[in-house]
Order: sequence, then structure tokens, then C-alpha cells
Amino acid sequence: MIVQKYGGTSVGSPERILNVARRIIDTQKAGNRVVAVVSAMAGVTNQLIELADQVSSGNKPTNREMDVLLATGEQTTIALCSMAINAMGGKAISLTGAQAGIATDGEHTKARISNITPDEVHRLLDDDHIVIIAGFQGKSPEGRITTLGRGGSDLTAIAMAAAIKADLCQILTDVDGVYTCDPRVVADARKIDEIAYDEMLEMASSGSKVMQSRSVEFAKKFGVRFEVRSSLNNNPGTIVTEEHPNMEAVVVRGVSIEREQAKVTIENVPDSPGIAARIFGAVSDAGVIIDMIVQNVSKTGKTDISFTLHRSDLDKAGETLEPLVKELGDPVFIETTKGIGKLSVVGIGMRSHSGVAAQMFATLADHGINIQMISTSEIKTAVTIDESQLDEAANVVHAAFNLTSKP
Ligand code: ADP
Ligand code: ASP
Ligand code: MG
Repeated sequence: MIVQKYGGTSVGSPERILNVARRIIDTQKAGNRVVAVVSAMAGVTNQLIELADQVSSGNKPTNREMDVLLATGEQTTIALCSMAINAMGGKAISLTGAQAGIATDGEHTKARISNITPDEVHRLLDDDHIVIIAGFQGKSPEGRITTLGRGGSDLTAIAMAAAIKADLCQILTDVDGVYTCDPRVVADARKIDEIAYDEMLEMASSGSKVMQSRSVEFAKKFGVRFEVRSSLNNNPGTIVTEEHPNMEAVVVRGVSIEREQAKVTIENVPDSPGIAARIFGAVSDAGVIIDMIVQNVSKTGKTDISFTLHRSDLDKAGETLEPLVKELGDPVFIETTKGIGKLSVVGIGMRSHSGVAAQMFATLADHGINIQMISTSEIKTAVTIDESQLDEAANVVHAAFNLTSKP
């Protein structure tokens, strides 16, 4: 029993859909039961978001209607893939997320899977069908269409693999696997043969969007070992799995970058209990997701608090904080900065090796790249820098840790 997920580029044209159909039929002919989860054709989800914008005269459409709209992208692809397979003499049936038994909570546009009842999937597989499932979507308790957040087809595949106890889960995409850095940014990045869930999770959540981070979280929780590989060749990909002792020998597994970050600094706030709670409470109530937080040491009873967020949330954060800043009185003020990027190095070996941060900072300094903020976890060191220097920074840090050569 095998679950294969084909991403947007892999189903991005009629020719690519025929390629996917052929691969799926070959997989079945090799003696497997096949469930294929497919994404919307490349660019379609973004086009739908744009269309929603164009008819909403500056207002924000409701998330409920966004989900009804966005789910159509995947629904197109499941029908086209099934048609292609059937035309080649295969036997395929398409299922929407709801038909495949994917139940979610009611958080439209970022729903969480609560339960999967794969009875229909099993029934069709028992009947020798290839089952084509729409990624990225499910059904809320009220029976509404929900979507699982951008990149959510990865989650559909991994959750379905767990639910039907698949022997193999493959994420097929437009690169040969997970690389030491995005190969579009670092040309000599190397494909990683094996990576631990925690490393994949940190990389995904710090900008390596080859996997949706929530899907990796799910895979870790339910022990779904999976492979990321290309839909365009037969090269072995990257195995994402439980960590084992050998993995710690590699100090830095990979480098991630995240563009379009922004920074808010609130200057001169009273250094007293409850201020940070009020600031971040307000931001969180506004639904703004923040990343790094830095608060300066105070000598005068006043302090500065800075945090980073996605650029698209900057205006909302500013508007939210304006009244609070007034309440805190003069001379508290907000400064917002765009054009920030984040660079992270990740590796479980960092738990037992020191010096990674020092080497990263020295490399950036050698290239005249100024660090604005720093944050660390047990297995990650991240900095924010000027966005225009992000590609250069990724390349020099990648080289400094020798990531092109095989460990
Ligand atoms: P799909 O449409 O198949 O879901 P995505 O566009 O979501 O594909 O993910 C594949 C892309 O992720 C690649 O084309 C690559 O540019 C990008 N990417 C970012 N970081 C990495 C990385 N560390 N390794 C491989 N690909 C990466
Ligand atoms: N089509 C959705 C997106 O573009 C889901 C996915 O591709 O995984 O985010
Ligand atoms: Mg993706």
C-alpha cells in the first residue's frame, strides 16, 4: 500500500498530468495498491486568491468562502488525473477530501485534521481501483469545505498514509529531494539522503517550503516515515525519519532562508510587568503571527521591544498597536521596517557541538553582512539581515559549513 503525493508543478500542465498518470499506473503494475494525493495545478491557488481579491472591492472575503473557492483547484486536478489514468487503460476514481473521509475542525483556511475515516478509500482499493484524493481539503463538523493551510497537500498525504497504514509515503515534487539549501538559491546545494523529523521541521518552519511544516509535525507525531523525491525522474530522494545516533555526527544539516520579513520596534516602553503581555496579547488577538522577539536590557526603567513578522501582516500589526502605544503615553513610539530576511542553520548535531553560531556570525561579518536579530533553539541558529543580502548570505554560510561535500 503506497501513498504518493504530486505537487503543483508535477501536475502543472496536461503533459505533466499524463506523466503522473503513467507513473501511478506503473506503481500499481509493480504490485502496489496506490492512493495518489494531488495538488492544484501550479499557480492555480494563487490565481484563485487573486480572483477573490478582485471581486471583494478592498474587503476581505470570509474564510468560509475562500475555502469553497480554493478547494476547486485540487478538485480540478483529481478529475483530470483520473481521466488520464482511465484513458490509459487504468482504473481510477477521484475523491474530494470529504469523500475520502478527512474530517477537520472548523478553522477555515487553516483547518486541522481531527480524524480520518478511510472506509471508502479501502473499499475502492479492495476493488483494484487507483484512488486519487484531492489534497489540502477536508470537511468541518458542520459539513463545510475546509482547507489545511498553504502547502497542505503534503499534510493530506501524510495523514492519509497514517490512516490507511500505508507501507510507503512518497512526496513527489519538482526537485530530487530535500537539499542542504533551496537549490534555486544555492546552486551547489546537495541532496540530503536522510534527515530527522526535527531537522525537517525546523527547516520547513524557517522557510524551506519543500515540505509544509504542519505535515512534518504530523509525520513525527504518528511516526510516518516518508520520502521526498522527483516526479520527473527515478532518482532516490530524501528519507525523512526518526533520528538515530549517527545523525548527530553532522553538525549543520541545512540552511534555510525566509524572505519578506518585517520588524516592529516599540521604543521607550515602561519596563514593568504586564507590558509585553499587553503588546503581544493585542497582536495575537489580531491574528498576526510573530516570529522572533527581542527585548533590550533596561537601565532607565524604559526598554525597547522588537519582533519580526511577515511583511503582509505589518500594517495590521501597526494598526493594532497604535491605540496601545497611545495608552502607554508619550514618548512611546513604533518603528516599522520592511526588507528583512531570515537565515537559519539547522542540525541536530548542534546539540552536542559548540561553535556553530560563532562560525556563522564570523562568516557573515567577513562578507560585510550585518546581523539585526538573533534567535536560537537547541538545533537551530537564526539571524535576521537585510533582505537584499539574503542570497549571498545563504551561499557563503552554506560554503562555510562545507555543505556541498558529502559528510
Ligand atoms: P510542490 O508543488 O511539489 O508541493 P513546492 O514548490 O512546494 O513543490 O516545493 C518544492 C520547491 O521547494 C523546490 O522547487 C525548491 O525551490 C523549494 N525548496 C526550498 N527549500 C528547499 C530545500 N531545502 N530542498 C529542496 N527544495 C527546496
Ligand atoms: N494548492 C495548495 C497551495 O498552493 C496546496 C498545495 O499545493 O499543497 O498551497
Ligand atoms: Mg508544496
